[in-house]
Amino acid sequence: MKDQFIAALQQNSLAEMRKVPKADLHNHITRGGNKRYIEDWCGVKIPECPKFADLHEMNQWNAIHIKPLLNGRLGYEKRIEAAFAQAKTDGITLLHMSVTIGEEAWFDDSPEQLIQAIQDIHRRVAPEIIFVPEIAFLTHTPMHETAGKIDQFLELNYFKSMDIFGDEFAVPAFKKIFRKAKDKGLILKAHAGEFGTAELVRQAAEELELDQIQHGIAAARSPQVMRWLSDHHIQLNICPTSNILLSRVENYQTHPIRTLYDNGIKVTVNSDDMIIFDQSVSEEFFNLYQAGVFNAEELNEIRENAF
Ligand SMILES: [Zn+2]
Repeated sequence: MKDQFIAALQQNSLAEMRKVPKADLHNHITRGGNKRYIEDWCGVKIPECPKFADLHEMNQWNAIHIKPLLNGRLGYEKRIEAAFAQAKTDGITLLHMSVTIGEEAWFDDSPEQLIQAIQDIHRRVAPEIIFVPEIAFLTHTPMHETAGKIDQFLELNYFKSMDIFGDEFAVPAFKKIFRKAKDKGLILKAHAGEFGTAELVRQAAEELELDQIQHGIAAARSPQVMRWLSDHHIQLNICPTSNILLSRVENYQTHPIRTLYDNGIKVTVNSDDMIIFDQSVSEEFFNLYQAGVFNAEELNEIRENAF
């Protein structure tokens, strides 16, 4: 596969790149679909997204251009279908996708029914994909509420990974919940170092005993934190286009993924919110290659490391 991957990069062939097995470890299930897929279904054109100043601007854009197209339970299921279809088209063979607590609202507040729907869609659309279901929650939800819901979800023994996102300063406080998930053998992740500092990345990783960090790019500003992440074998699941379109990074050329890699940190390349940013994992490999951030051999190593 190594030769095929390198040839695809050198020949600038997206079709060949799609045939090479890849992982996507940072993907939110309601936003993993391709715009064209949604457009074909509802007959409405979704515009290209602009560069956002922050998450608030992105959410506003999403509320205007995407949310109204995907209403209710049917819309929710279409999002999931689109996400699996996109992964299949892109040659993703290992797929982590997060379901955010609260999304069971579309299923009469039943986590069981939500899980059933995901399983059915996975089986119908892309049964060949190794799918790792991830449960995610927002830091803004009151802790007692989150804890109760998490218990309910974990008891079903379906989810194999956990993620948290929202206010990066609040992340380390969710230690107890992560401890529970760790005891159940889940992969532990958190969104950190996207808007926050390098120190917050280390704090989140240490307090929550994380295995992987979603983004974590701020760590590149601190040699000490990079050393710590490398020593503790903590992997960063990076999404280059997401970082650019959320004004975290100027362009691919200057993306800190290179610095993180050079400091011995295991990095992976992922899609984040395909429905908004419109760049697949395959395309992200081209983006980094064409910007001269990595050579083809290095990108293949990054691709393989994700498994
Ligand atoms: Zn994310």
